[in-house]
Amino acid sequence: MPYKIVYLHRVVAEQTICRKLRMGEVVHHLNGIAEDNSADNLEICSSASVHRLHHRKPHSDNFQPDRPLEREGDLWF
Ligand SMILES: [Zn+2]
Repeated sequence: MPYKIVYLHRVVAEQTICRKLRMGEVVHHLNGIAEDNSADNLEICSSASVHRLHHRKPHSDNFQPDRPLEREGDLWF
């Protein structure tokens, strides 16, 4: 019998949004407590990179972009 690992927070999130999570979607714990799988504590991120934004400290002085800023002419992007 095949064994399938199901993460509880994903099941709770799926019940909250009444659909299955899509490939790549990540469930984030808003209060940072991974064991707290109450619906209020879960937020669905569309990708791992969106999820990563939640784990940056807000208003951090040493904000680090995903990649170094590149300069082209006078435009920074
Ligand atoms: Zn998270």
